[in-house]
Amino acid sequence: MRKLSRPIELPELTVARKKYAQINSPEEAWSRFGDNGNREKVRKQLESTQNNLCAYCENSLGKAGHIDHFKPKSLDRKVTFDWENLIVSCCERNSCGEKKGEYYRSYWVNPYLKDPSGLFRFYANGQIKGRTPDAQSIIEDFGLDCPRLEEKRRTILSTYQNVLLSIVDDPEVIEYYLQETIEIFPTAHEQTIKNLLQ
Ligand SMILES: [Zn+2]
Repeated sequence: MRKLSRPIELPELTVARKKYAQINSPEEAWSRFGDNGNREKVRKQLESTQNNLCAYCENSLGKAGHIDHFKPKSLDRKVTFDWENLIVSCCERNSCGEKKGEYYRSYWVNPYLKDPSGLFRFYANGQIKGRTPDAQSIIEDFGLDCPRLEEKRRTILSTYQNVLLSIVDDPEVIEYYLQETIEIFPTAHEQTIKNLLQ
């Protein structure tokens, strides 16, 4: 996870807060918002802000992102159309939005509100560890240490680390290499470089 900057909210969302205020069921209100195509508009806006990465695991969203209510709307209907509460997550079953489900914990960090990148330590073997007990709980609650994610990070980061090690004595080549666009797991990549240059 890393800090994200929220764009200005779409007027459709502002309208929805008033339009659906009388509907008691947050599921029904959210569903009606989707019927008009507005949910998709919001999702696309957030996906673009997040560079098509899941806000939690930083893996590619591919074609299957969904709007996650950071605090579940089933726990508090007032947050159904709360702009600060909407985040795009991947749809993998064992992590992120799907894993946290209908739970909410006060120690969780909303990456649009607070920078979470310093809470976690990534390793080139794919592991992730919390720097504090709360951070470790976040990893478990969000499934950021699930075997699928660890394996994917290991494949990508170990190759990345090997390349960096092979060019570490040639600053010009390193500089060139660092300009390459990093697509997925940006926070883990940054830490891999930092660890090597320490
Ligand atoms: Zn994810």
